[in-house]
Amino acid sequence: MSKVINKTLIIGLGLIGGSLAKALRSNRRFGQIIGYDRDPDETSVGIELGVIDIAAESLADAVSEADLVVLAVPVKAMETVLVDIAPFIAEDTLITDVGSTKANVVAAAKRVFKTIPTGFVPGHPIAGSEKSGVAAADEGLFDKHKVILTPLAESSSEAVNVFADLWESTGAEVLVMDVEKHDEVLAATSHLPHMLAFSLVDTLAQEQDHNTDIFRYAAGGFRDFTRIAGSDPTMWHDICLANKDALLSQLDRYITGLGRLRTAIECSDSETMLGTFTRARAAREHFS
Ligand code: NAD
Repeated sequence: MSKVINKTLIIGLGLIGGSLAKALRSNRRFGQIIGYDRDPDETSVGIELGVIDIAAESLADAVSEADLVVLAVPVKAMETVLVDIAPFIAEDTLITDVGSTKANVVAAAKRVFKTIPTGFVPGHPIAGSEKSGVAAADEGLFDKHKVILTPLAESSSEAVNVFADLWESTGAEVLVMDVEKHDEVLAATSHLPHMLAFSLVDTLAQEQDHNTDIFRYAAGGFRDFTRIAGSDPTMWHDICLANKDALLSQLDRYITGLGRLRTAIECSDSETMLGTFTRARAAREHFS
C-alpha cells in the first residue's frame, strides 16, 4: 500500500459500516477509525461496543481530515451524502461505497462531482445478513467472502490497490468487474432470490387462517430458503428501484421458467420435470 492512511471515515454506521469499522479497528492497518451516522445513537453504540475509535460530530470536519472515506449508507441516501461531503473532499482523498447496486451510485457521483475524482472506486461486499444496525456489527462478516470493486475510467490504479488491500485485510477476496456487469450478476444471484423469498413467505402468510399456523409445519429446507425474507424491507425497496431494469429482466426469465415447470406438472410431463430438476441439481453441486 503506497498511500499512508492515518484516518478512515465510515459514513453510515449500520451493519456493513459497523462490521467494516470493527474489522479495520482490529487489524490497525488503516489508521484511526472514525464513524459518522445521521443517527447519533448508532455512533454512541459504536463507541460503547468498541467498533470505532472516534464518533464524528461534524461531517465536514471528519471528511476534511480523512484520508479514506467509506459510504455505508442505504443506496437511496448515497447521493445526499455525496452532496454533503463533496465540498470537503481533498484531491487525494480515497472514496468508496458499499452499496448493493452500482450504476445508480456512479450516476449520482457523476451528477455531484461532474468530474469523477481519481480516488473514487465504487465497491460492494458480497456479505451481509438480514440484521441491521451497528449492534449487529460483526468483525468476521467479510472473512472468506467476495468483494466486488467496480473501478471507473477515472479511478487511479493506486486507489484501486488501496481498496483491494483494505478489503483483503478483512479476509475478503477482491474481484474487479465493470459496473453494468456487477448490476446484472447481482440481479440474478442476490436481488432475484430476495424477491422469491419475500413473495413466497408473503403468499403463504396470506393463506394462514386463525386455526392453522402453516409455518409450524415448515422444515429446515423452508427455513433455509426463506431466511432472507427477514431482510430490511426499506433496503430492498430501494435496491429494486435502483436496479429495476436488470431485476425485471431476471424476474421475466424466472417467471418463464416457473411457467414451464407449471405446465410440465399439469401435463404430467416427466421428461421436462426430471430434466429441470437434474440440471438444477448438477448446477448446485458444481457451485457448492
Ligand atoms: P443499516 O440500516 O444497518 O445501516 C445504514 C446506516 O446508514 C444506518 O445507521 C443509518 O442511520 C445510516 N444513514 C442513513 N442515511 C444516512 C445519511 N444520509 N447520512 C449518514 N448516515 C445515514 O444498513 P446496512 O445493511 O449496513 O446497509 C448499508 C449499505 O450496505 C447499503 O447501501 C446496502 O445496500 C449495502 N449492503 C448491505 C448488505 C446487507 O446484507 N445488509 C450487504 C452488502 C451491501
